[in-house]
Amino acid sequence: MADLDSLRNILQLECRKGYSDKAVIGGLDKYLHRQAGLFRQSVNDPELLASFDKLKLADSSYSSYSLEERREWIASILEWLDRWEKARRENVCDVTMPRKLSAAPPKPCLPAAGDIDSPLTVLKGISSKTASRFAKLNVRTVRDLLYFFPKRYVDYSRIKPVCQLVEGEEQTIIGTVWQAKVTTLGNRPGTEAIIGDATGNVRAVWFNQPYIAKDLPTNAVVVISGAVGLFRGQRVFESPEWELLKDKELIHTGRLVPVYPLTQGLYPRQVRKWVKEAVDGYAGRLEDFLPQDIKTRCQLLDLPVAIKEVHYPSDFATLEKARKRLAFDELFLLQLGLLAKKRDWQESQPGNAFCIDQELVEKFLRSLPFSLTRAQERAFEEILADLKQSKPMSRLLQGDVGSGKTVIAALALLIAVSNRYQGALMAPTEVLAEQHYHTMCGYFSRCGMDKSSLLSKGEENVKYYEGIISRPFSIALLTGSLKSSVRERLHAMINKGEIDLVVGTHTLIQKEIQFSRLGLAVIDEQHRFGVLQRASLRQKGFNPHVLAMTATPIPRTMALTLYGDLDISIIDELPPGRKPVQTRLLDPRHREKAYRFVRNEISNGQQAFVIYPLIEESGMLEARAATAEYERLSREVFPDLRLALLHGQMPSQEKERVMRRFRAGEVDILVSTSVVEVGIDVPRASVILVEGAERFGLSQLHQLRGRVGRDKQQGYCILIPQTLSPEAIARLRLLEKIHDGFTLAEKDLELRGPGEFFGTHQTGLPNLRLARLSDVHSLELARREAINLFQRDAGLARPEHQLLRRQLSQLWCQEAEWS
Ligand code: ADP
Ligand code: MG
Repeated sequence: MADLDSLRNILQLECRKGYSDKAVIGGLDKYLHRQAGLFRQSVNDPELLASFDKLKLADSSYSSYSLEERREWIASILEWLDRWEKARRENVCDVTMPRKLSAAPPKPCLPAAGDIDSPLTVLKGISSKTASRFAKLNVRTVRDLLYFFPKRYVDYSRIKPVCQLVEGEEQTIIGTVWQAKVTTLGNRPGTEAIIGDATGNVRAVWFNQPYIAKDLPTNAVVVISGAVGLFRGQRVFESPEWELLKDKELIHTGRLVPVYPLTQGLYPRQVRKWVKEAVDGYAGRLEDFLPQDIKTRCQLLDLPVAIKEVHYPSDFATLEKARKRLAFDELFLLQLGLLAKKRDWQESQPGNAFCIDQELVEKFLRSLPFSLTRAQERAFEEILADLKQSKPMSRLLQGDVGSGKTVIAALALLIAVSNRYQGALMAPTEVLAEQHYHTMCGYFSRCGMDKSSLLSKGEENVKYYEGIISRPFSIALLTGSLKSSVRERLHAMINKGEIDLVVGTHTLIQKEIQFSRLGLAVIDEQHRFGVLQRASLRQKGFNPHVLAMTATPIPRTMALTLYGDLDISIIDELPPGRKPVQTRLLDPRHREKAYRFVRNEISNGQQAFVIYPLIEESGMLEARAATAEYERLSREVFPDLRLALLHGQMPSQEKERVMRRFRAGEVDILVSTSVVEVGIDVPRASVILVEGAERFGLSQLHQLRGRVGRDKQQGYCILIPQTLSPEAIARLRLLEKIHDGFTLAEKDLELRGPGEFFGTHQTGLPNLRLARLSDVHSLELARREAINLFQRDAGLARPEHQLLRRQLSQLWCQEAEWS
């Protein structure tokens, strides 16, 4: 069935994205064609059909429209949807039009009373004003509210007699109100009550809340939960949670009480009440989309039960089970979606099988000044095996800083060119792209003859090589800072197939660049690129093989989860003779020593980095702190040396300029925020000093120190923490001992948890709310079940998988928002 709501959402998203055809993976046309087909199947009103057909969704070619045409056309569809919506509201329609894409049983067209997708205002006491407050928390419908999980729980389940209350603990009593009155507490009106049970009396006070007094009538039985303090030697509950014990279920006291994230204008008691209402009235209507056999095998709760228990748990054990079920859902749907994408990519169009010219490979390798490490050889074999297939490669190449990924990429690209395809190498920054370009040119110069000198002027961004493959071939550097005339010329050459290899920044995936025959795309530092950018690169034509490279060592299970659509190769060995960067933790009181060391290195002709700490809250603060430090160092510590400043708030051209000067040796000390983390190669940098080191993750610090000691010379890393907490010191000491990025990543994950280690927002994947990436067991379980299901029913066509299919398409439609 067609899903007009999601159609509308997608189109609105497309508007917001400036009509860039980025609202859905695979492009708008493909999506519209499918929706049109579904719509035609589900509607039998001829008049409606006729008006629908006028929209021409079924044979749209949005991708070829001009911007103006796109705008008009989308506006016309949205208008049609409005009219249709209005008509639908005014007379009860007989056309089945379920809200969401599915082949599930038809649902009524208007949200019926009790429809779980109704706006929040159907709940008693939620005004549109309150609803707009919830909207700030991304909660719009009753379903959203059911999925609005507590951030923690307070355990008020231990009910005690008054005589056993102890100071300082959170406890609960059930008692009778002897007296409750408005009184003055700390100069402001508040409520004071005396509550007693058979064992004694206790005082309760609420600051600033005089109105509570009238809600506590004398002789009412009340439950009080909270911390007990002492006031003038007497026990007292201070602003406790409370509720009258009538015959209804307790939600604020006497149990595990949920604590929700709040925003201005929302109060805990209200939110708990509304969630309770939603749970009682609607959780039972949640359709459990997990097939029964999976639930049985994995011992998972039913969905309605899990939702109920995650809000109002019976006890900690059941809460754990509820979380397990909901976390499983997240991971499982994520895996299924990734598997489906991988299949889409690999099967929608066949890829290009390359012939591997073994002689070429050997010649290239012989020309290198080193031989490949075993790990490089292994990774390369895996890549070759993929390139031979007509199924496009989707591979992630992981390798520690300096493990030699670029040379592998260069060879793979050369193979693409020898097969008469084009190749592209993309890097996250211009400086990195330049660096790659020079490295590749260096390799090719050794292997064949550089004929670039024969070129006409104005082509300094292009080089030609002869004697490597059977014909001359060209490589170009394409960056955003090129003059537009040069850039346009390069675009035209790429388009005509006159350029064989292109090295550039992400500008390569910009719209205007059309390759003539793109056969292999290599993306360096993959963690900076989302899934969707990968997808958009694929649309550059010919369903190219894709090789993503990263030096961020992601533990394997986590990589499988985040990049479930990729195969993985790992280079877990450094070239011989590499000296590990000597790393020392330094007491901040001895900072002078570090400065002396830096000065000494510089007088020996080396360069240094000073990294200023990460400030989570704001890049602005971070920039300001780094700037202040830069000024202090320039004035007071190194007035005679050449310093430069680099931070994330600088315009990118300025950043590139600074990096270039540093690389050229025109700067002795680069004072920077962590923006230098990404693979930049400055051969003469030998020392890196990291301030506020405890604020960084181990992996990040490892990346940072990978910036020094790139040549044969010894590199040094000095870590200066801001605070000397024993945990921070113990953690940082690991860097002194461990020099393997993977081991450090595992430790990091263990110590800091995955949220910090690797925010999912970087990946373009759905946010995981309950699932923990450190929970290897759940990850593997979900992945196994997803693969298993995918093997049995990849298209989710069977009747028992229809709910699941709907759930999946909803999730991944929303994911379009992530691009
Ligand atoms: P990264 O994996 O960090 O991208 P690079 O590809 O930049 O690493 O390689 C780092 C350096 O090591 C380069 O100067 C490269 O030429 C060199 N290199 C690569 N492979 C080997 C090897 N097998 N033996 C010695 N040096 C190597
Ligand atoms: Mg690299």
